[in-house]
Amino acid sequence: MFNRKMLRLGEERSAIRELYEYGLARKKIVGEENVFDFSIGNPSAPPPACLTETLRRLIDEVPPELLHGYTSAPGAYDVREAVANYIRTQFGVPMSATLVYMTCGASASLMCTFQAILSEGEGEEVLVPAPFFPEYSVFVAQAGGVLVPVPTDARFHLDLAAIARAITPKTRVVLLNSPNNPTGAVYAKEELAALGQLLRKASAERRSPIFLVADEPYRELTYGEAPVYPMSVYENTVVCYSFSKSMTLAGERIGYVAVSPRCEGADELFSAVCGAGRALGFVCAPALFQKTVKHCLGAPAPVEVYRANRDLLYASLSDMGYTCSVPEGAFYLFMQALEPDARAFCERAKAFELLLVPSDSFGVGGYVRISYCVARSVIERSLPAFRALMESYRGARKN
Ligand code: PLP
Repeated sequence: MFNRKMLRLGEERSAIRELYEYGLARKKIVGEENVFDFSIGNPSAPPPACLTETLRRLIDEVPPELLHGYTSAPGAYDVREAVANYIRTQFGVPMSATLVYMTCGASASLMCTFQAILSEGEGEEVLVPAPFFPEYSVFVAQAGGVLVPVPTDARFHLDLAAIARAITPKTRVVLLNSPNNPTGAVYAKEELAALGQLLRKASAERRSPIFLVADEPYRELTYGEAPVYPMSVYENTVVCYSFSKSMTLAGERIGYVAVSPRCEGADELFSAVCGAGRALGFVCAPALFQKTVKHCLGAPAPVEVYRANRDLLYASLSDMGYTCSVPEGAFYLFMQALEPDARAFCERAKAFELLLVPSDSFGVGGYVRISYCVARSVIERSLPAFRALMESYRGARKN
């Protein structure tokens, strides 16, 4: 009676959302402070001061009829100009307002981009280093493409030989997410430059471009060097950006697509992005937040809050005997489960009120994702539970 694909998507919630809902219910039963919810990437750090100040000022100073109305479909032109100017000056690459499309966050940016690039029914492939953000499977399938996971190296960085092997005549997109959810990896300049070379060569050989789609909601959340801007290493690049994480704005739904002017057919590609936004019914990105972020581009992200969380969690879990890779960015710790079946491990963790996401939906087995964008007190209070979980496995081994 109803669309079967949509019904299935609606009925089988993502593993992350499922666990988040479980946590909400569990908190009602055992008390908020007794559940250690590391499920969802909902930022907890205060947004930059600029954001709250600008919101207040806009509400006080701009007449509501001018503040809340529709903007142009791709976004208010002055906002697009400000974003283009920011990209040009911050990253030293060409960009024009006419290639910036304001969206409802990274999800919408990705959906518009995939729909713009992929042709339905052709089985066109999107390569993605695994592990990867689970919603990619939904977005790519909905745009008519096929998501092809490609293994990464031992540190979850790019395995260029594996990417080269995975390229076929049907490859249209390589999708990168750095800083990465769920591993915290931040790809180095050299590896991105090498990827650029590889894609340039492969595109030339088949005489049609392979696009690099860079999903960048964590760009400002890095603990080392600032990540290289992908448009500076490869011409056929589309950046899908979101203010959700860097500005603690996840619920307000604001981001953008920026098409590199060096892309083959950049203007047409941009028009297709606009067409996709229209077909998806986005109309325009939230007007109040377009106007707000315009004044806060480049405002410092609360990276130190997450660095302190990372340091505490990584050091404590390593001390207890867990094996984790050190996150270089974002706010996720990727940790080896204490048994091969990560789902079984996460079920056991629930008995200690620890909500961890099994890695299976990220495209690899045997790990869990710990989302540490929580209040520091949650991490502090959770440590005895992590210890008890470890002890429960040690005890089981002895018996
Ligand atoms: N891409 C990645 C890698 C993410 O982690 C997320 C959210 O967690 C998104 C996209 C979606 O971001 P948004 O909330 O801006 O749609």
